[in-house]
Amino acid sequence: MEGARIVRVEVRRPDLRWPLPRDFVQRLEGETVTGIGRRAKYLTADLASGDVLLMHLGMSGSFRVGHDGEGGIPGEFHHPRTAAPAHDHVVFHMSSGATVTFNDPRRFGLMLIVPRRELAGHPLIREVGPEPLGNAFDADVLAAACAGKKTTLKAALLDQTVVAGLGNIYACEALHRAKLSPKRRAFTIATRTGAPKACAIALVDAIKTVLNDAIKAGGSSLRDHRRTDGELGYFQHHFRVYDREGELCVTPGCRGKVKRIVQNGRSTFFCPVCQK
Ligand SMILES: [Zn+2]
Repeated sequence: MEGARIVRVEVRRPDLRWPLPRDFVQRLEGETVTGIGRRAKYLTADLASGDVLLMHLGMSGSFRVGHDGEGGIPGEFHHPRTAAPAHDHVVFHMSSGATVTFNDPRRFGLMLIVPRRELAGHPLIREVGPEPLGNAFDADVLAAACAGKKTTLKAALLDQTVVAGLGNIYACEALHRAKLSPKRRAFTIATRTGAPKACAIALVDAIKTVLNDAIKAGGSSLRDHRRTDGELGYFQHHFRVYDREGELCVTPGCRGKVKRIVQNGRSTFFCPVCQK
């Protein structure tokens, strides 16, 4: 999409998670996409008009990128996948000849148009914490955010105001790498003055490592996740604890078995022996 003009937008239903803006098509057609970015779990497409197309995949949303005339779905699939036109809700026809199709069976995804100057103050964005891979996220910042928090450390990591966009899988994996129990209280990684303890430094390291490894592996293929080329991500083959209930802990020298508990309605996988 980047650098190309949106020639035509097909909207095949009036709503995703929320109704699409009434002037959605008018504000997009004819506009050049000047940049593609991301904030937390939101995808952003900057338009020459100064608007930003804000998109979220929700639970099951995915984009397919294809080229006019080629047809079909690019890439290979481990599971049969039809073009499922019933779930192709929005199609962008680009001046480059590419078609970018948003498919979302469960329709928890969203698309909004927000003026760029209003984006940082938008209700969906303004409370969002620092990007985990950005320089602004370090042990000082994490400890300060956790100081005084009586929730569990796992819940704090999933709190988007503490750190942006860290999902359930990566929170579990990072806690295992840092050898920290998901059940410990969040404030225990900070000193009484809110400074980071050594474990906060280890946790930030673990978060950055687990995310960088996952990006290298192409993400994790659970449920309907696909990369835009249609390939499955392979990070699930690197899970240390996630979805490994009852299996031996991979920490060298640890004889623990991975346990699954439910915290705040989400599955947590951890080793009760080496995660303190
Ligand atoms: Zn262990």
